[in-house]
Amino acid sequence: MNGGGLARLSVAGDSATAASNHRTETVGNHTVKRSLLGCLLMLTAAASVTAQETAVPNVVLGIHGGAGLPKKEMTPELEKHLRVGLERALKEGYAALQKPNATSLDGVETAIRILEDDPWFNAGRGAVFTHDGRNELDASIMEGRLKKAGAVAGVTTIKNPITAARAVMERTKHVMLISRGAEVFAKDAGLEIVDPAYFRTEQRWKQLQDQLREEREAYDKKKREGAALAPLARPYELSTVGAVAVDGAGNLAAGTSTGGMSNKQYGRIGDSPVIGAGTYADNKSCAVSCTGHGEFFIRYAVSHDIAVLMEYKGLSVQQAADEVIRKKLKAAGGEGAAIALDPKGNFAMSHNTEGLYRGFVTVDGKMTVMLYEK
Ligand code: ASP
Repeated sequence: MNGGGLARLSVAGDSATAASNHRTETVGNHTVKRSLLGCLLMLTAAASVTAQETAVPNVVLGIHGGAGLPKKEMTPELEKHLRVGLERALKEGYAALQKPNATSLDGVETAIRILEDDPWFNAGRGAVFTHDGRNELDASIMEGRLKKAGAVAGVTTIKNPITAARAVMERTKHVMLISRGAEVFAKDAGLEIVDPAYFRTEQRWKQLQDQLREEREAYDKKKREGAALAPLARPYELSTVGAVAVDGAGNLAAGTSTGGMSNKQYGRIGDSPVIGAGTYADNKSCAVSCTGHGEFFIRYAVSHDIAVLMEYKGLSVQQAADEVIRKKLKAAGGEGAAIALDPKGNFAMSHNTEGLYRGFVTVDGKMTVMLYEK
């Protein structure tokens, strides 16, 4: 990150600090600029949302490792692994952002690669299994200045799907490549290719076997008793990874990478590689990365919805994220979360689940990692 950017972010920090009281401040700032009708619309929208938390100011990099498990299922061992992984991703991502001429894309890609290589997260190595026992990976990346984007989906041999997504963005005229085509492209582009067995971990395999057994038991019960199929306890664990960053030039980027949802049908693509669903970035509003039940995030165009609530209605990043995640999506039955960062460094973490494995670094290098509310 260059010096100008740091200075710029510190200046932004003043308004960002004021943004901790954003419900009054934001509305106040906009009333001077907007028409009466605009103000009324904005006030209505702002009043309809109660922010869960206040946005954290002066953030340059925010990450998540999924909405995770209910707290009572968390073990001290898993918690330790998750914290170590998140801290490492923050440290490396921040270091990448500080290199000369680094962009927000470098911070996002670096942080996500660390989490993809870490077997405790559902992305890259450690990805969940499909119903038929394969690891099929999805990832996407987007930058907020020119709104360029890249994605890969359903890939089984690319070690770091986020790097492949970036290569699609930077080296092709397309936005998304899938399965075999994406794999051939990645190989030709010189990216690291691995045997599909590289992604396999015992804990994910066991998770699939448990789900398959539960499904069989529910099916047998239905056959025996003619009862309606009861919903399975928790058919999935939400543990996709993602990152959002702002660089010294004030440009935003967002990225998301995942193995998808455990026990998914082969060929199923979730929200993570879909621009506007799991990932979005626009310097006019914010950078967003999501985790959750992907079908809902696609249908509700969640990351795009958060961004345009800021752009069209003047909501703060926290208000916009809460409006979509905690109100709209929750009412629809879609479990999940989003992290979102505006160009001034205000960072929102909104979830309608008990947890959200997450962390952020502020401009001065201070890191914070959180798994649940407190
Ligand atoms: N959103 C991912 C998907 O549906 C899953 C997750 O976030 O855990 O593929």
